[in-house]
Amino acid sequence: MSVVLVVNSGSSSFKYQLIEMDGERVLASGLVERIGEAAGHAEHKTAGEPFEIERPIPNHTAGFRLMLDAFANHGPSLTEHAPVAVGHRVVHGGARFFEATLIDDLVEINIDDLSFLAPLHNPGALQGIRAARRAFDAVPHVAVFDTAFHQTMPPEAYTYALERETAEKHRIRRYGFHGTSHKFVSEAAAAYLGRPNSELKQVVFHLGNGASVTAVDGGRSVDTSMGFTPLEGLVMGTRTGDIDPAVLIHLQRRAGLTTNELDDLVNKRSGLVGLAGANDMRDLTARAQAGEAEAQLAIDVYTHRLRAYAGAYLAQLGGADVISFTAGVGENVAHIRAAALRGLEFAGVEIDAERNENAKRGEITRISSDASRVAVLVVPTDEEVEIARQTLAAAQE
Ligand code: AMP
Repeated sequence: MSVVLVVNSGSSSFKYQLIEMDGERVLASGLVERIGEAAGHAEHKTAGEPFEIERPIPNHTAGFRLMLDAFANHGPSLTEHAPVAVGHRVVHGGARFFEATLIDDLVEINIDDLSFLAPLHNPGALQGIRAARRAFDAVPHVAVFDTAFHQTMPPEAYTYALERETAEKHRIRRYGFHGTSHKFVSEAAAAYLGRPNSELKQVVFHLGNGASVTAVDGGRSVDTSMGFTPLEGLVMGTRTGDIDPAVLIHLQRRAGLTTNELDDLVNKRSGLVGLAGANDMRDLTARAQAGEAEAQLAIDVYTHRLRAYAGAYLAQLGGADVISFTAGVGENVAHIRAAALRGLEFAGVEIDAERNENAKRGEITRISSDASRVAVLVVPTDEEVEIARQTLAAAQE
């Protein structure tokens, strides 16, 4: 019986799941947050209601002690369900890490080195790794990178047409993100269809608050919509996605916006929030149905971009066998799925309206018609299980 602990750590919080790998069952999950603030907060969930703990948590090490207390007081017992490995989500692996990697001191240094590419994410992940390695010092720890799955992109897909010397000096290229989810979903789609992943051409739409789409050829990412950072590509909850970079230069020159203000504008105050004041698709859908033009335009801009990428990736792949939708919006919003693929009948894509409307939550569902040449699926993503799988595999190597 193998149990894996999965940790997703930021600079002031971390989430965890204890997963029993036979059957991939979550035994416990939780959240430790407001680390370093006056009042810390933690939640620990087993089978039933979550237990809440309020207490100052000065640093990640204290956070892990609190987590261990929660397991000791509320179960399950970590003696009975001792993790054989700990998996850590790390956002940026740069061009250095192309697979899940056993953590040692050198790997820690490399993750630290890559912090300049993900200043908001990698330092927090590293704090979590260091504290967790102390708390679980007898088992292997594994880093699973959001970027790793996209390291198979060919140079023409990851290279920006930017002056070469400048790009190389600052390591500017497309890296891609959400790789753990794209990998999980493309493998789940192949398994559902009962076909070898190596034979399939796939397009995967991960539509959550952050959103990206990936072209997967034979199980390998060959193109993805996020780039140097998770800002590029699709319209998101609060991010612009693709925008003419000259807009930023213009705003700096003409409106005097500072670097931080521009960063805030394109990452936090744009996307659906910027267009219609809300990023929850339930809210926007209700407002559009009530005839509100602003909400309708936000949805139209969002789906127009989805279609543009669907067409582009079908062209890059030379057609697809399967298109999947996942994450909050992708798994729950039928009208977005329908609009994303509208007009693609010529490429063999045909959604069945009733199957699309009735797609069951939490289950893989085929929403294409029987006549559709391309299978269109809704696939619930599970990044924690994917991290746990890769962790176990890397630990057993
Ligand atoms: P995620 O980042 O995958 O958790 O997705 C979060 C987003 O998914 C939210 O901002 C909502 O827009 C959307 N979402 C989640 N559940 C639903 C739902 N039942 N109906 C419509 N939108 C949903």
